[in-house]
Amino acid sequence: MADLDITTIDHGSTRTHLVHTRYVNWVILQSDDGVTLVDGGYPGHADAVAESLRRVGSDLSEVQAALLTHAHVDHLGGLAQIGRTRSFPVYADPAEVAHARRDFLEQADASTIAPIAYRPRVMRWLPGVVRLGALDKAGIGDTQPLGDLSFLPGAPKAVPTPGHTRGHSAFLAGDGEVVITGDALISAHPTTKRRGPQCLDHVFTHDVAANEAAVASLRDLDAVVVMPGHGPMLCGRVGAFVDQALSRRD
Ligand SMILES: [Zn+2]
Repeated sequence: MADLDITTIDHGSTRTHLVHTRYVNWVILQSDDGVTLVDGGYPGHADAVAESLRRVGSDLSEVQAALLTHAHVDHLGGLAQIGRTRSFPVYADPAEVAHARRDFLEQADASTIAPIAYRPRVMRWLPGVVRLGALDKAGIGDTQPLGDLSFLPGAPKAVPTPGHTRGHSAFLAGDGEVVITGDALISAHPTTKRRGPQCLDHVFTHDVAANEAAVASLRDLDAVVVMPGHGPMLCGRVGAFVDQALSRRD
């Protein structure tokens, strides 16, 4: 079983849980009506997603829907596995739907990773993620374009943040108190020793300039908690984290 570290922000009638693992995070939005998942780890994380739901007093039968920040295998893969036996709708930004359905794949491969493959951290990371199914090309064929999400547990709100992928989306939860930033803005990644607010290495990003513009657009949000796609939770004014991330670009 994957090492799970769950941090909960309580908003009263709803709760937002960041599930942090060594390789990637996902988020559980929980209310009396059930749960909404945001991302679901690698294919090899399917059991860990179920375990994380149990640890917050829920289970897969309570999942009303899943949202994708984007369709990379480390965010979509667990949901694709779970979807083989469970049926709940999966939503993504309209510009990400074709990617999630695997009409095309917009993801780093052996040739794009080559410039950083010499790094010891990358050499240690690769076998770990391959074991978790990083080479799995399966998508989620019935991914739907998201619209108003306020009917879902946690009443999330999409914030388009294209760049890391063409249809990447962040999500607000907890009445805007929490922003789930996916891979637009992270706080750590196994391939680098860098800690704190940052953008992912260029080799993992579809359009670096667009991603930086998207991250800058988060500056004015009122959120005071950032739940990133990789690394621990950040507590504080999101604008400060945006400034730090953009000042540390390579
Ligand atoms: Zn990604």
